[in-house]
Amino acid sequence: MFDNLSERLGRVVKNLRGQGRLTEANIQDALREVRVALLEADVALPVVREFIAKVKDKAMGQEVLQSLTPGQMLIGIVHKELAALMGEQAAPLSFASQPPAVFLMAGLQGAGKTTTCGKLVRLIRERGKKKVLLVSTDVYRPAAIDQLKTVAGQAEADFFPSTPDQKPIDIARAALDHARRHFHDVLIVDTAGRLHVDEAMMEEIKELHKALDPVETLFVVDAMQGQDAVNTAKAFNDALPLTGVALTKLDGDARGGAALSVRQITGKPIKVVGVGEKLTGIEVFHPERMASRILGMGDVLSLIEEAHKAVDHAEALKTVQKLKSGKGFDLEDFKAQMQQMKKLGGLSTLMDKLPGAGKASADQLAEGEKQMKRVEGIINAMTPEERRKPELLKASRKRRIAAGAGVQVQDVNRLLNQFEQAQKMMKSLGKGGMAKMMRGMKG
Ligand code: GDP
Repeated sequence: MFDNLSERLGRVVKNLRGQGRLTEANIQDALREVRVALLEADVALPVVREFIAKVKDKAMGQEVLQSLTPGQMLIGIVHKELAALMGEQAAPLSFASQPPAVFLMAGLQGAGKTTTCGKLVRLIRERGKKKVLLVSTDVYRPAAIDQLKTVAGQAEADFFPSTPDQKPIDIARAALDHARRHFHDVLIVDTAGRLHVDEAMMEEIKELHKALDPVETLFVVDAMQGQDAVNTAKAFNDALPLTGVALTKLDGDARGGAALSVRQITGKPIKVVGVGEKLTGIEVFHPERMASRILGMGDVLSLIEEAHKAVDHAEALKTVQKLKSGKGFDLEDFKAQMQQMKKLGGLSTLMDKLPGAGKASADQLAEGEKQMKRVEGIINAMTPEERRKPELLKASRKRRIAAGAGVQVQDVNRLLNQFEQAQKMMKSLGKGGMAKMMRGMKG
């Protein structure tokens, strides 16, 4: 996702390395590069212009903080402005006060409407709305109705049947009536798309909108279309009071132009993004996280900020003192480290924020968290003396600990190996490496 843009922006920062401060000249140079990067990413020209002007405005006259390089400083500003461009805050899906909440899906053929109908079911259920009904008003393509039926089956949602000989408006009214009488929380209405924006299609969807009075009118658009996607969004937005955008196929979008322009051009938030063909391939859109992803360096600054807040300073100090006094790092410290990591929000949050570490799958993360719990359990099963002197742990003690923690002896051995690694790392950090590591994380 957005690989090209990330790479180019990364280069801008690299070029600023070694410069002592942000000056008019080096800001100009860097911004010229950022501008080219955005244009190459297919971001709409007026959006690029305004963006550059804003970043320049913020960057000029900024004192570079002592702890940051000019490149980091500029990245901070670009990051903030990218997030602002995409809407700052995530825009949650709305639900009507009186169920059923109607979601009307609009968009061109092939944009991903039908798939998104099915994907939305999970997000809706996560918000506590369990009973979802799907209906298709696409009477022009019988295959489209069948496709939605299949999708509804996969998503385990209810399906309201329709046939090509019916009028779209009649189908919509009947489905709404059915949803009311059967106490559905949400009714999702899939509509017919055309290959291009055309009058008849717009008239039809306007009529559907009037009859259904939807709480969400989502414009579904394929991110890979870049600026074309944004132009279509504008055409639909002029015709219909859209409440938000569902940006699909972001998984295949190496450029990012649509994601960056659509909000600015239409004034409507991207609410969800499609990130895969499967029904699980949907995410709520978070502008700030997306800005971090685009910059490809994770949300490093905020990680450090949070680290400062969450880490128990007393605990950290104790470890440092211990290292200095040459007493070394024991299993008690290892456990304390693990607890601090939990305070930081667990592995998944850390992985999201560390540069280059964002590729772990949900499965790997879940496995990682499970292992963390196992390790804690094992250390808990040791006596305080064993924790201080892991060298005491011979076969019989290991067997006792494994039994106590409900794991295998080999799990205990694996933990001891990990601990040795951590001990080695702490030793090198003790020799002045801590500051180096923190600097490395920022850059
Ligand atoms: P519709 O004509 O607007 O209803 O579009 P469909 O829902 O039939 O989707 C068109 C094609 O895009 C299908 O092959 C989908 O599997 C695919 N598709 C939809 N959303 C995504 C997505 O987020 N990522 C990927 N990779 N493919 C998607």
